Amino acid sequence: MRSLLRPHIGGIAEYTLEHRECRIKLNQNENPYDLPEEIRSEILRRVAAEHWSRYPEFVPSRQMAKVAAFTGWRADGVLLGNGSNDILQLLFACALDAGRGVVISQPTFTLYRLLAEALGAPVRNVPMTRSFTVDTDAVIEAVNTTDAAMLVLCSPNNPTGGQIPVPEVERILKSTRALVVLDEAYVHFAGASAVQLLARYERLVVLQTFSKAMGAAGLRFGYALLSPDLARQLTKVKLPYSVNIFTLIAAEVFIDRWESLKSWIGALVSERSRLFTALDAMEGIRPYPSDANFILFETLRRSPAEIFSALLSRGILIRDVSRYPMLERGLRVSVGTPEENTQFIDALGEVL
Ligand code: PMP
Repeated sequence: MRSLLRPHIGGIAEYTLEHRECRIKLNQNENPYDLPEEIRSEILRRVAAEHWSRYPEFVPSRQMAKVAAFTGWRADGVLLGNGSNDILQLLFACALDAGRGVVISQPTFTLYRLLAEALGAPVRNVPMTRSFTVDTDAVIEAVNTTDAAMLVLCSPNNPTGGQIPVPEVERILKSTRALVVLDEAYVHFAGASAVQLLARYERLVVLQTFSKAMGAAGLRFGYALLSPDLARQLTKVKLPYSVNIFTLIAAEVFIDRWESLKSWIGALVSERSRLFTALDAMEGIRPYPSDANFILFETLRRSPAEIFSALLSRGILIRDVSRYPMLERGLRVSVGTPEENTQFIDALGEVL
């Protein structure tokens, strides 16, 4: 019998995340701080005044203009999505097929590989250096020798935490002809963005999200910044109304209130250094410097699975990333509130 789905779908390794109720949740790089009550109420008041029976605007131009002002890019080069995952899928679907492959610097966010495999597109993985920086020369060579249609880079990179310096991104753009997708999901914790390169390189697409620094993972809002021409082409294929009115309104309020919200960032960045120092001082633990809101560390004695389970039994959920390429001894912990981080550090000290 003919298979119900395209046959290669059966061969794709599943990307699963088991749901676990936990006292301290440090596994998904979420912002531990929730929105102040007064801002929540403002969003709810504005949502209540909308016509829920009507579709959102076909082109949500007000929110596109807000995102443009927020990021310093042009409004006709903004694509809004139901999370940045939504835009990633659109980009992959428009750029790749069996004859048009992608280069991915690894280890990185698993979804890139998955989306490419779903499309039956060839994937060339390029290992990072041993200190988990992007191997720029190897990436350029892989893009050029495979004549890849797309290169995906993540900066700061999930799960390793480091950034690609903007001049390196530019060197890659200058030395290749592929579409370069730069996922800046964690950019607000890093300080440096490649948005300034957009004016000079029409092949660059920058993705950002409100799921991390903005503390709005549950609302699902992400966007691409790109050339107006590419935006027009992709819009032809994009599902209409993928961002609902609730999220559109909330996103506007987040941007309007960003000045007061962004103190989150300072608090998380200073907790990140405290966490790093504590991990670095532990025997048998090797943390890697991070520009994001999580830290990758290697456990040199007990296995990652053992440490993960021992922490879980103490009510602390982190992420076992030991199945990622190069990370056989890897665990990743998101930066939580000071109390959560202290409890994590104490518990890790006990279970080592
Ligand atoms: N890119 C990276 C690198 C991520 O780590 C994540 C979240 N895990 C996403 C994109 C997805 O973000 P969103 O919630 O906007 O879909």
